[in-house]
Amino acid sequence: MFKFSEISDLCIKCGKCIPGCTIHRINPDEATSPRGFLDILKGVEEGEIEIDKTFKDTVESCFLCNQCVEVCPNSLPTDFMIENARKKVADKYGIAWFKRAFFFLLRHRWAYDLISKLGFYFQTCGFKIEEEKKSIRSRFSLPMLHKGRLLPAFRKTTFLKKYPEKIEAKNSQKKVAIFIGCLANYNYTEVGDALVKILKFLNIDILIPKKQACCGAPAYFTGDFDTTEYLIKKNIEYFETFIDEVDAILIPEATCTAMIKKDWEEYIRHYMSEDWLKRYKKIQDKVFGTTEWLYKYTDLEERLKDKQKDMKVTYHDACHFGKVFNIRKEPRALVSKVATIKEMEDPDVCCGFGGITIQSEKFDLARKEGLIKAEMIKKVDADVVSAECSACRMQITEHLDKVGDNKKFLHPLEIIAQKID
Ligand code: SF4
Ligand code: SF4
Repeated sequence: MFKFSEISDLCIKCGKCIPGCTIHRINPDEATSPRGFLDILKGVEEGEIEIDKTFKDTVESCFLCNQCVEVCPNSLPTDFMIENARKKVADKYGIAWFKRAFFFLLRHRWAYDLISKLGFYFQTCGFKIEEEKKSIRSRFSLPMLHKGRLLPAFRKTTFLKKYPEKIEAKNSQKKVAIFIGCLANYNYTEVGDALVKILKFLNIDILIPKKQACCGAPAYFTGDFDTTEYLIKKNIEYFETFIDEVDAILIPEATCTAMIKKDWEEYIRHYMSEDWLKRYKKIQDKVFGTTEWLYKYTDLEERLKDKQKDMKVTYHDACHFGKVFNIRKEPRALVSKVATIKEMEDPDVCCGFGGITIQSEKFDLARKEGLIKAEMIKKVDADVVSAECSACRMQITEHLDKVGDNKKFLHPLEIIAQKID
C-alpha cells in the first residue's frame, strides 16, 4: 500500500519547487507549497494532522500542474501524493453531487452523448452563443457560475459520431488510432477535424475507435479512484482489440496524454495487479501527443516548409505536455513552418485551469492565475494564442475575455490544417 512518508522523507527541503509552484504564486504560504504538502501528508499518516476541512481545502488548492515534479532534484511525485490525499478526503467527506453526476457521464458515453445533444438544443436558454470563441456565455448568475462566464459550447455532432471508424489512405505505410478526449469530442470538435485533415494529407490510415471511454483524469484528480479504475480497465480492454493493428494512438490533448501515458502507470503499479500492468505496458509505448508524433515520425515539418506565414502565434505550454514530457519544441517546430511564433514572457506558467474542483468550488484561484496568464498573452503582438490542450483553451478563452484581449485561440493542429490542401 502506498505510504506518504516514504516520499516525504526523500524531500531534502531545497526549495527548488517553490518559486514556480502555481498555488504558491497566488497564495504564498509554506502550507500551500510542494514541500509543505509533503510535510502535511506525512503528518496525516503519522496521526499528527487530522483530515479535516482545513486539510481538504489545502490539498484541493493544488493545481496539479507538475512543475514541482519537473524541477525536484529527487523527482518526487508530489502530484501522486496530492491525488492520494484527495482520495482520503473523498473517503471522509464524499464527493459533491454535481461531480458524481459528471463522473457518471464519463463512465457512460451514451449518457454523455444524450446530455451533449440536450445541451446543444437548450444551451441558448441560459447562455449566449459566441461562435468566434467556440463558447457560450452565461446570461445569469448561478451557484459556482457567475454571469458572463464563458464555457465551451456543445456541438450538434460529436467528433466520434462525425467520422466513420476507418478512413483508409492509398498505399499507406502507417496507421494510427485517434483518442480524442472529452472536450474535443463534445465541444472543440475542430481539433479532431484538423487532425483527420493532417493525417489524410500525410496519407496515413486512420482508425477512430468508437467505444473509447474518458481517460479518467477528472475523476482521478478528484480522488474518485473507483471511476478511475473502471475507466482504466474499460479502455485497456478496448485498446487491446486494435493495438497490434496501429503504429500509434494519437491524442491531441495534453491532459489525456499525461493521464494515459504517466498517471495510469502510477495508478496501476500501486493499486492494480501485475497482469494489468503487463497488459497496459503493451499499450503505453504506442501512446503519443499528436504534435510529438507528427514531428518525430512523419515528414510533416518538411512538407510545410514553403508555406506562407501570415499569422503571428504565441504558444502556451500546457503543463501536461511541457512539464510532464518536456514536449515544447515539437509543436513550435511544426507551427513555425506556417506562422511566425512570438514568445510570451513565460510560456510555462500554468494557465490556472486546475481541474473540476478549482473550476467550480475554487474558481477564485483559477481566476487569479488565469489573469496572470491572460495579461502575459495580452502583451504579445500576436493574432492567435495556441496550446495543445482543450482545458487550457477553456481557461485562456475565459481570461482573455476578462482582460479585454481579442486574440483568437487555435489548437496547433488547427493552425497547421488551415495551411494544407
Ligand atoms: S502540482 Fe503545481 S500547484 Fe501543485 S504543488 Fe506542484 S507546483 Fe504547486
Ligand atoms: S524540490 Fe523536491 S526535494 Fe526540493 S523541496 Fe521541493 S519536493 Fe523537496
